[in-house]
Amino acid sequence: QLGYLPWGGSTLFDARWDAVGLRDDRVELSYREFDSWVAAFAEQLSERGFGEGDVLAIMLPNRVELLVAMFAAWRLGGAATPVNPVFTASEADYQISDSGAKLVVNLGHSAPDGGRPAIPVDAMRTTLQGRRADPVPLIGDELALLIYTSGSTGRPKGVMLDHANAEAMSGMMARHLGLSETDHCMLILPLFHVNAIMVSALATVRTGGQLSVVGQFSASRFFDQVEQLRPTYFSAVPTIYAVLASLPEDVQPDTSSLRFVICGAAPVSKELLEKSQERYGFAILEGYGLTEGTCASACHPIDGPRKLGTVGPALPGQQIAIMGEDGSLLSPGEVGEVVISGPNVMRGYLNRPEATAETLRGGWLHTGDVGRLDEDGYLTIVDRVKDMIIRGGENIYPKEIESVLSQVDGVLEAAVVGRPDEMYGEVPIAYVSPYPEADLTEDQLLDHCRRHLTKVKVPERIHVVEQLPKNPVGKIDKPTLRHLVQAQPV
Ligand code: ATP
Repeated sequence: QLGYLPWGGSTLFDARWDAVGLRDDRVELSYREFDSWVAAFAEQLSERGFGEGDVLAIMLPNRVELLVAMFAAWRLGGAATPVNPVFTASEADYQISDSGAKLVVNLGHSAPDGGRPAIPVDAMRTTLQGRRADPVPLIGDELALLIYTSGSTGRPKGVMLDHANAEAMSGMMARHLGLSETDHCMLILPLFHVNAIMVSALATVRTGGQLSVVGQFSASRFFDQVEQLRPTYFSAVPTIYAVLASLPEDVQPDTSSLRFVICGAAPVSKELLEKSQERYGFAILEGYGLTEGTCASACHPIDGPRKLGTVGPALPGQQIAIMGEDGSLLSPGEVGEVVISGPNVMRGYLNRPEATAETLRGGWLHTGDVGRLDEDGYLTIVDRVKDMIIRGGENIYPKEIESVLSQVDGVLEAAVVGRPDEMYGEVPIAYVSPYPEADLTEDQLLDHCRRHLTKVKVPERIHVVEQLPKNPVGKIDKPTLRHLVQAQPV
């Protein structure tokens, strides 16, 4: 029995017990070494009074110790809440207090720890001082993770994920992607987000593959890392593909080690996917999901049909349906709210019974996303309910305008938000960032919109900006754009 996988471990990869399992730019650990670090740190946590049902806040940049700390909390029957390491003191305090964390693991520099006792990462114990204690046996409904939503729709809420959620999600992903012990994942997304934890870390670890934790994504180093580490896959957000697509043409990396790559977490234009695939020769599998669904709910299969513009079919073991306003389930082709059920659906929001009851209703997770399914069960995300713009009573989905703008040569990313308007209630305003060297003008973009959109959807203004604002996970930050739009002269 391997100690580090709380839901039973695996004997699948005994052969890899002593080969390199996890690495970052400081250390390389076999799974055996990882397991003894986890046991040693669990011993230290336990001496500090940490035990079953307690929450450990981990405020570290991407490095192996972050996973050691998470698994150590699990080993003792506790849960982990990863905190964005660049949070300001008040942002960190909010999450640490809200989560009720008993202890914090941090870099030990400025110690924004919500008044909780902290263990600096350099003081984490790596060897056992006493006798190795057995892991607390789990049945699945114990809290594993408290992941805070980025708060693009209000104050961050703690999403409660239990071990059954984590086990189901990482297993679904591992099977869907056909992962095996010969796979090697390069982890580039921040580990305070479900995508990095589920799709990269847990799916890889449970199959006994290699996991290379790289620090912050860096455009200039990215392909050197790929060539040097030779991963078989990575998971990234659209922004990263946008950055890679705008690298100088003479960047022609060797990507032959990659079996596939994943793009998810935010809308991405077909054009960007096509360009990236063509230029770098990798197969991009687009997926869709949300923290409340433990990460991915739909994803293109590795060996089935891929339909660009859709986010793929539901992962086997989950159901995705489209619900009308009256609560009825709609037919293929019809547009309504995306609802999800399955073993991956969260237990609820921590200490927020009302928000939980609103999101988990009638056996479904209500996503707040608008979408449609086709005859083969492939999902298309139309937009977010909350991002919809109502102009003079007419519903406008920003994503439709963004897709039209993305067709223009030279457009890298586009984002559309509503601006309050006396006459119409709201009007769409667009922000566009160009590829380097591309020459875009507002008139040219407006012309293109007029040709491809009905009048009501044509943006009032199109601002060409060097870069769009991004949230900590790398998604286009629409709340910031909404503030900007109000401050900008008409
Ligand atoms: P909030 O804080 O408002 O809950 P968030 O962005 O922090 O939002 P996440 O759970 O990280 O929450 O993101 C989930 C959302 O991201 C989905 O509900 C959906 O709107 C969007 N999303 C994820 N993948 C895709 C995709 N492939 N295409 C379009 N949208 C996507």
